[in-house]
Amino acid sequence: MPEKPKLSMYWAASCGGCEIALVNLHEKILDVDAAFDFVFCPCLLDTKKRDVEAMPDGSIALTLFNGAIRTEENEEMAHLLRRKSRLLIAFGSCSYEGCIPGLGNLSERDEFMRTVYLENPTTENPGGIVPRTETEVPEGVLHLPSFYDRVRTLAQVTGVDYFIPGCPPEPHQIGNVVEAVVQGKPLPPKGSVIGAGRSSVCEECSRKREDKKLKGFRRIYEFIPDREKCLLDQGVLCMGIATRDGCGALCPKVNMPCTGCYGPPEGVLDQGAKMVAALGSLLDIGEVKGLPEEEIDRRIDALIDSIPDFAGTFYKYSLPGSILKGRIA
Ligand code: SF4
Ligand code: SF4
Repeated sequence: MPEKPKLSMYWAASCGGCEIALVNLHEKILDVDAAFDFVFCPCLLDTKKRDVEAMPDGSIALTLFNGAIRTEENEEMAHLLRRKSRLLIAFGSCSYEGCIPGLGNLSERDEFMRTVYLENPTTENPGGIVPRTETEVPEGVLHLPSFYDRVRTLAQVTGVDYFIPGCPPEPHQIGNVVEAVVQGKPLPPKGSVIGAGRSSVCEECSRKREDKKLKGFRRIYEFIPDREKCLLDQGVLCMGIATRDGCGALCPKVNMPCTGCYGPPEGVLDQGAKMVAALGSLLDIGEVKGLPEEEIDRRIDALIDSIPDFAGTFYKYSLPGSILKGRIA
């Protein structure tokens, strides 16, 4: 029997949702099993790093790499799997753009250590011990990978062939990509986003838009939005305008705003900046003719202040991959 192509999946700084997304293929997972020899996946298999190191370079047909680069270990595995794989795919929002772990770029490394290991009310640490890269024990020296100052995307540390967006990617996307690889179908140019659309979530959302001007914003828990009308028109900060299509507008379908997990549409460099620019043309501070400048400023400030959590709204999934990359010191 001919050898099957090898498949690997790795998690760096991520939550495990991308592995669940693969299992969510349901019966199609059997096609994946039939087509590939699953050789490495720390979440599911007991293969070790040394087993991957022993494989010839380029011997893995496809690696789905999920998770951002937060530690020295994440980066080492990114380089190792790049070397061993013919196709390296940034799988899911964390490896594509940094995602939720990327919001860590709003804080310094020392702030993390202090908060988590010393100041957290549920932490009991009378010795004030924080993780170190080297610890001497009677048996020798223990090594821990270092925790980087900044979260980076996979493409910021090594070459990536394709990107599959989503937090997590939807099963139909994964199925399409795996099928294309198995059947040897022509793939788009290297560096492309695959398994998703090129336009915005608004294009696949069935809600009615009225191009209303916005006088302020409301959080989703404050009222029950009309199920037919555009959420943004109702003052809910829906990121659909600035988010790539492909999920089928899943969140607006269940009366929740899109929070942007598919990243920016094709050709848009910075998802947050795109959304801010779009809002700039939608905000309404009323008639300003004859008003003193201070009153105009006050109205603008009040409107902007009603936007909840700037970074967490505009850059929830994309901070390390954005132009800003994180907090500017
Ligand atoms: S802004 Fe949101 S609710 Fe409105 S059309 Fe776009 S995706 Fe749908
Ligand atoms: S609607 Fe937006 S947040 Fe929801 S799954 Fe789609 S891209 Fe992600």
